[in-house]
Amino acid sequence: MSDLEDEADFVIVGTGAGGATAARVLSAAGHSVVMLEEGARLVTADRPRDLLGAMAQAFRDMGTNATEGASPLPLLQARCVGGATAINSGIIWRLPDEVRREWSERRGLGELVDERGLSEAFDAIEGELEITDTAPSLWGGNATLMARGAEALGLVGKAIARNASRCKGSAQCLQGCPGEARQSMDVSYVPRAIRQGARLHARARVDRVRFDGGRATGVEGAVLDAERRVVGALRVRARRAVIVAASAVQSPVILWRSGLRGPVGETFMAHPGCAVVGRFDEPVGMGFGATQAYEVPLRERRMKLESISLPPEMIAARLPGAGPAWQERLAHLDHVAQWAVQVRMEAVGRVRPAWFGRGGEASVRYAPTRADMMRVREGVATLCRMMFAAGAREVYPGIAGVRSVLRDPSEVALVEAREHPQSHYSMMASHLFASCPAGADPATSAVGPDLAVHGVNGLYVMDSSALPTNLGVNPQHSIMGVTWRAAERLAQRTESAATRCVGAVRETAASVPLSSRTGAA
Ligand SMILES: Cc1cc2nc3c(=O)[nH]c(=O)nc-3n(C[C@H](O)[C@H](O)[C@H](O)COP(=O)(O)OP(=O)(O)OC[C@H]3O[C@@H](n4cnc5c(N)ncnc54)[C@H](O)[C@@H]3O)c2cc1C
Ligand code: SF4
Repeated sequence: MSDLEDEADFVIVGTGAGGATAARVLSAAGHSVVMLEEGARLVTADRPRDLLGAMAQAFRDMGTNATEGASPLPLLQARCVGGATAINSGIIWRLPDEVRREWSERRGLGELVDERGLSEAFDAIEGELEITDTAPSLWGGNATLMARGAEALGLVGKAIARNASRCKGSAQCLQGCPGEARQSMDVSYVPRAIRQGARLHARARVDRVRFDGGRATGVEGAVLDAERRVVGALRVRARRAVIVAASAVQSPVILWRSGLRGPVGETFMAHPGCAVVGRFDEPVGMGFGATQAYEVPLRERRMKLESISLPPEMIAARLPGAGPAWQERLAHLDHVAQWAVQVRMEAVGRVRPAWFGRGGEASVRYAPTRADMMRVREGVATLCRMMFAAGAREVYPGIAGVRSVLRDPSEVALVEAREHPQSHYSMMASHLFASCPAGADPATSAVGPDLAVHGVNGLYVMDSSALPTNLGVNPQHSIMGVTWRAAERLAQRTESAATRCVGAVRETAASVPLSSRTGAA
């Protein structure tokens, strides 16, 4: 057994897009910071290149998490230093202005998402994380064909901007970038925060926040070994604040286990999506190119289309047929392209700790609306048409109850002939949001415009859960930008109070009682 005790000004739970950015900003301002991460710190050279090995090592529960109910929706999450940024494709989008204005006007987040301040944060992040458009020489066959299909249908697409200016096109982002070209948090802001004086404890799972006299004073949990067995107790004291940044599924679980209620976990949102596969006469060569290089944003239709290259073992599972027919397709795996649609769904779900679960196990209820599913169908039909327009000989729409192989563009009408329930699609979600939403009104939001939990002192949420809604674009840049703003203001506020009188800060904060809607003790 080996217990872990530590203490810092700021204790940050989670090292993904939100937690690592908060650590980078607060440590740069001279504050002492401890980062606590449930997963392991991965060594690039030791990361498995096969998909199963990569999922076993870096994905939460090997990628098997899903929503509850009749039609489970897989929720992809990471559990390692860097969080989901360590397995993502590096796609970068600034917060769309219409979403920013909605948050400002309807959620009271004016200062947090102030146009100029947020734009300055994005500029800084884009410089530090080496963000550039993916050069056509790195598109590979998969994205090049998608561009051809989009152009033929008159759809406006573009090269994807990514945080990987030194990308070599190995199409292995999901397994971790072999050359550390992609500036995920494990190779960028986490090491940078450490260089600035922060401490990182990996395999350190936080179970709950501790309170004293109405103030968050630290966290407690468990120290884990490589097999995720508990080998010690964890207690870390926060002199100034605890920042929960454990993701849109895990952050509300930690707050619930800490006795916080109200809107915590009530408004979970997502961008679920699914993929279409097509077979071409010409070789596609999915093994070369940036994992995701070309996109067609259709924001007015609440969807986004993207090329997505995956390892052969995953693509093989999408080939239709059985016996010799399947084997013949497998022999031509190199002629296969895959593109996906992600939908900005209207559905709102709920996150709770799993009833009998241990640690971070969560129960998520989420059901797409009929309008959401109509958009999925529209997206799949559009992708099928793009595949044919790009020259596909066969298209596999991947919908149960619809012909599994389409051979002519006229057959796309079969996809549109009727509505299909969620269970008929192979859908998944990796963009998760809003389970501890920010807002000025404590009746409808868990955290305020400074991302402090309403009614509690010294407790913040800075990750995807604090975004008030989903976005319609890939989220990591918005999470980093909003966190940057909140952390910068927290650093300044703490600094000025500290300069006036450090002791008074603690005394004043400790005298504020917990809100009546929290059961924290
Ligand atoms: C496969 C995949 C591809 C994606 N591609 C893109 C993309 O290209 N572009 C984009 O913008 N977005 C992408 N995303 C989404 C993006 O990565 C996430 O939205 C973002 O990383 C979420 O940031 P976060 O800080 O909220 O949580 P995370 O990045 O998930 O980090 C949370 C961290 O907290 C840790 N943690 C959880 N519970 C505890 C606990 N109890 N104690 C201690 N630590 C804990 C977790 O292990 C994790 O490391 C992708 C996601 C996935 C899964
Ligand atoms: S495609 Fe390969 S080289 Fe490029 S960022 Fe992803 S893993 Fe790195």
